[in-house]
Amino acid sequence: MQYEALNLAQGFPDFPADPRLIAYVNEAMVEGYNQYAPMSGIYSLREAISGKMEALYGARYDPDKEITITIGATQALFTAITAFIYPGDEVILFKPAYDCYEPAIKINGGIPVPIQMEGKDFHINWEDVRKAISPKTRMVVINSPHNPSGNVLSEGDMQQLQALLKGTDILVLSDEAYEHLVFDGHTHQSVAKFPDLASRSLLCASFGKTFHATGWKMGYCTAPEELMGEFRKVHEFNVFAVNHPTQRALAKYLREPENYLQLPKFFQEKRDLFLSAVRQSRFKFTPCKGTYFQLLEYEDISGERDVDFAERLAREFGIAGIPISVFNTGQLDHRQIRFCFAKKRETLERAGEILKKI
Ligand code: PMP
Repeated sequence: MQYEALNLAQGFPDFPADPRLIAYVNEAMVEGYNQYAPMSGIYSLREAISGKMEALYGARYDPDKEITITIGATQALFTAITAFIYPGDEVILFKPAYDCYEPAIKINGGIPVPIQMEGKDFHINWEDVRKAISPKTRMVVINSPHNPSGNVLSEGDMQQLQALLKGTDILVLSDEAYEHLVFDGHTHQSVAKFPDLASRSLLCASFGKTFHATGWKMGYCTAPEELMGEFRKVHEFNVFAVNHPTQRALAKYLREPENYLQLPKFFQEKRDLFLSAVRQSRFKFTPCKGTYFQLLEYEDISGERDVDFAERLAREFGIAGIPISVFNTGQLDHRQIRFCFAKKRETLERAGEILKKI
């Protein structure tokens, strides 16, 4: 990094993955699982995902035909877009948006139709969505818990989306990379919970985010059989098979539900530790509802543009965050910086000390 600042910018943990999970990978390698895995992923992992989806969302996904293991959520998203978006197709997405959707749409000849979310908490105005739907709309991309805002879609939001799409052949691409990171008693509203949405959705998830191993690039996609068939036509020739020993390890680890059920508490404690220090600073905030990102507002400190303020934070104060305007339509700037709190206690305390001095 240019200024060697404390890095709370990029979304990855600075603490290790569970040594047990790492041991499972090692075991799988020693046991000889070092050759190609099946194209759609090993059955035991797909079965474990299916069991988790049923337990958490009451949804039944057939491990054989409706689940595919991918190289992280990113590949799942790209493959889903490539399988369904043809030149001239319109794809509705919400700004601020994670940065991999629009390039994937464009490379396939699709037309991104961005809708700016409203307010400093970034909520969807469903009337805007109704107006944006056209005969060319092929897909709507949603992301909850939401990067970069830390907001989550409510049950009401999901019902509005379901009602808007009823009777159309519009697909939903649901990026649920942070499905287990939801706080303060909120619950994750997966598309899998809403039958009419589930029937038109490709759901993408990330083991890297879930199990503090972003460098492994492991994820998956679930979708009804007909959609998954199309997804696999692209996956087969773009990826063929995903890292085998890691799949063995994840299959075993997923069968211990505590490994993901304890995540909301684990990350909420980190968020609260971070916020207890920020409370003594001049930054303002609303605690995030999900993800491991917290937005801090600095309008009481400076009138600078957020890109300039973020640059100065790194240069003068030695802390790096991400200015939110870069994810917005027309660089809309609410004077907010995103900080990642997936960090060990010492890092969060150091961050707190720095932020209090600004
Ligand atoms: N979606 C969102 C919203 C993300 O924040 C990220 C990671 N930053 C991804 C997808 C990509 O996940 P993966 O590393 O599993 O490809």
